[in-house]
Amino acid sequence: MQYYAATTDAVLSALNSTLDGLTQSDATKRLAEHGPNEFKHKKKPGILSIFLRQFKSMIVIILIIAVVISALIGEYIDAAVIGFIIVFNAFFGTYQEYRAEQAMEALQRMAAPTAKVIRGGRESIIPARELVPGDIIMLETGDRVPADARLIEELGMKCDESSLTGESVPEHKHVAQIKEGTPLGDRSSVVFMHTIVSAGHGLAVVTGTGMQTEMGKIAAMLHAVKEEDTPMQKRLEEVGRKLGIVVLAICFLLFVVEVGKTPLIVAAPLEHLNELLDFFMIAVSLAVSAIPEGLPVVVTITLAFGLQRMARHKAIVRNLPAVETLGSTSVICSDKTGTLTRNEMTVTTIHTSGKDIAVTGIGYEPKGKLSATDKNIHTLMEIALYCNDAHLMKEDHSWKIMGDPTEGCLLTVAEKARIYPDGRKRIDEVTFDSNRKRMTTITKQGDGMRAFMKGAPESVLDTCTNILVDGKVKKLTPAMKKKILVKNEALAAKALRVLGFAYKDVRKGYKHNTLESEMVFVGLMGMIDPPREEAKRAIQICDKAGIRVIMITGDNLITARAIARQLGILKKGHRSVNGVDIDKLSDDELYHIVGDVSVYARVSPHHKLRIVKALQEWGEVVAMTGDGVNDAPALKSADIGIAMGITGTDVSKEAADMVLQDDNFATIVVAVEEGRRVYSNIRNFIKYMLSANFDEIMVVTVAAFAGLPVPYLPIQILWINLVTDGFPALALGVDPPDHAIMTQKPRKKEESVFNGMLTIVVLAGLLSFLGTMIVFLYGYGPEHNIDKARTLAFTASVLFELIFVFNCRSAANSIPNGGVFSNKWLVGAVALSFALQLAVIYTPLAVLFGAVPLALNDWLALIIVASFAAVPYLGNLWARD
Ligand code: ATP
Repeated sequence: MQYYAATTDAVLSALNSTLDGLTQSDATKRLAEHGPNEFKHKKKPGILSIFLRQFKSMIVIILIIAVVISALIGEYIDAAVIGFIIVFNAFFGTYQEYRAEQAMEALQRMAAPTAKVIRGGRESIIPARELVPGDIIMLETGDRVPADARLIEELGMKCDESSLTGESVPEHKHVAQIKEGTPLGDRSSVVFMHTIVSAGHGLAVVTGTGMQTEMGKIAAMLHAVKEEDTPMQKRLEEVGRKLGIVVLAICFLLFVVEVGKTPLIVAAPLEHLNELLDFFMIAVSLAVSAIPEGLPVVVTITLAFGLQRMARHKAIVRNLPAVETLGSTSVICSDKTGTLTRNEMTVTTIHTSGKDIAVTGIGYEPKGKLSATDKNIHTLMEIALYCNDAHLMKEDHSWKIMGDPTEGCLLTVAEKARIYPDGRKRIDEVTFDSNRKRMTTITKQGDGMRAFMKGAPESVLDTCTNILVDGKVKKLTPAMKKKILVKNEALAAKALRVLGFAYKDVRKGYKHNTLESEMVFVGLMGMIDPPREEAKRAIQICDKAGIRVIMITGDNLITARAIARQLGILKKGHRSVNGVDIDKLSDDELYHIVGDVSVYARVSPHHKLRIVKALQEWGEVVAMTGDGVNDAPALKSADIGIAMGITGTDVSKEAADMVLQDDNFATIVVAVEEGRRVYSNIRNFIKYMLSANFDEIMVVTVAAFAGLPVPYLPIQILWINLVTDGFPALALGVDPPDHAIMTQKPRKKEESVFNGMLTIVVLAGLLSFLGTMIVFLYGYGPEHNIDKARTLAFTASVLFELIFVFNCRSAANSIPNGGVFSNKWLVGAVALSFALQLAVIYTPLAVLFGAVPLALNDWLALIIVASFAAVPYLGNLWARD
């Protein structure tokens, strides 16, 4: 059936559906039959392919060559142990990558789109993938259409179909069927999956889902969420690559030096193949250990875990780079309504016919009274009722609203005034947008048509030429207008959100562009919207953390200032400006004032973009919230675009880096704290890994040049690498937050992740090297007991790292601050690594590792040198982190 060419009734009956929607059981059956409403993606790599991928790295290939060579010349034990290490590493890498991928997948599920449906006569929000043909969907401005559907009702609906047809001008949509054979771009009676509702709203019945949609047909061209590397990951990869080259060069040099020291090998290399191979193996093992190949994976997994933790706190971060950027946020620009305030509106004051009327009661329950009556009240409440898209209902003994709280509270106040809907029908509307700051509906009753308008008082007054006083229409004089504006300011000064109301009778043939003129002003209503207590606390945290909070709101300047003061955003010396004043400023002038302004009021979306850019020019890392369709450009250009999960449009969510599931400002601050924690944990294990690598390189290099035997066997080097880079490094990635983290200034955008690390890495590396050399020489002794010396050396390196790891943590978690046990994963990882080390020395494994049992005084020596690991802390080198 060509749905666009059929009547709505015909479509509904063809799809076996009604205006009440499908029943839940019918929908479940259809879902099983049609499959989920999504495109078939390329299959994700399975565990096996992740496992095989582990063998692609150059380091592993070098190791495999080493195994083959060892086996060929009969060194079976070496071959087996290195082989085991390769396989173990591969399992470990697979486990890490798999966890990271799962974390990303879980996240994508959480960020998945939703759809508003009517099922069994009830409105609900479901994951868009569960839509089936026959479902009735509700569409609003800013929604991304969740499936192909035939319109059943619409008001002023336009769709941006550029993603499907390439046509950039939004198409008008109508319910009437159209001719068969009409090309895709002109099918005005249907809406297409993934296009955007750019104006109006409507109801539609789903005709196609998933691959059966027009978009599905071209799905091959569409991509799933793009996976990008974060700037830090890119930098680490680059540094890792450079470090790799340096390490390879050193290893090659060592090989040459060692071979050069043995003239016999040089003279007849083939006869001394075994010795040659020994040196080759040492060079290879050293290269493998010193190249920080584990770094990118550990970074990814730490970012992914951070992302999961943020999601648990209701902040859905849509890409990994954002986790990193969040930690360096220096300015948060936040909307007011719903984010800093509770968005639980209650009308407390009405102003009409020149007098104030107080309204009692709190919340949406229509319990309360008006302190006086007036002839205007009926008209005022009619506007409140008919210029309204919200629904008021009682559910489980409590009163709730569906829709915008600003509108919901108007339904409550109308009931308190005992004015109820009287059978008018809405036939048209000019939808609300945050540029005009008002909305108008046209209603019909009998033969009469009336337009109702509500919005920001000055915006409504701009369209009025008349005023209703005591039920009579009079001319609106400039003096009256001024009085109303003064009243508006007085109400706003009490932190009330104020709306103005107007109406006019209209005749057939009216035009949208002239509709909002010559209106009759009726009155004002002031509503309270209490600040969120948790936002207040979060702002105090921001103060300590050196993060500026700026309020950017569509609301009135005076209301905004009053609330900003209550929240602690507007302090002495701070300025506040209106959107219109920003328009008068050049970019350069704006740049010079953004440092002082903490409240922007009556702002339109385009102002947000200019504010972001001006702040960024100062080098600030800007997080910016937004919910409307027009906010998308500002969200995109902010360093962290933040959309509202509850009230936000699909378009704003798609443009954002982070979606707040609870629309709450405090959640942003929690996410910033998590971001800082992730960054600091990553720095901690980079510090740890690099110092371990530095130690091994130093030990082998110095021994080579000092004419000593190589202090470690190749297998021992690989072992140190495995023990230290493995579990303890990973456990550092899940270190608990250090609360002091929110008392430090944000880090600079351009600051390198290695910043300030060199001293610690070099110092720790040197101390470890010193300790290792001491025990090596002590073990080697006059008897040249090389086995014992090596056992001591590699045990010393392992022990040093196992103690040092505790000091790679932030100051609050370090040993002297009693933080040893605050990360049970780390304690477990260290205990396990130590037990493995004992196993290598005291069990039959010792044969494989060339280890010999150690006596008590050997352990004493080891403990003394391993305690060097605490020295860098004594120098208080951590304080700056
Ligand atoms: P914020 O930007 O902090 O979320 P806001 O809700 O006031 O605050 P907008 O949604 O841009 O911002 O609204 C701007 C103004 O438009 C409001 O201050 C109010 O005067 C008016 N307004 C808001 N919602 C409606 C509505 N549903 N109908 C008519 N006017 C509205």
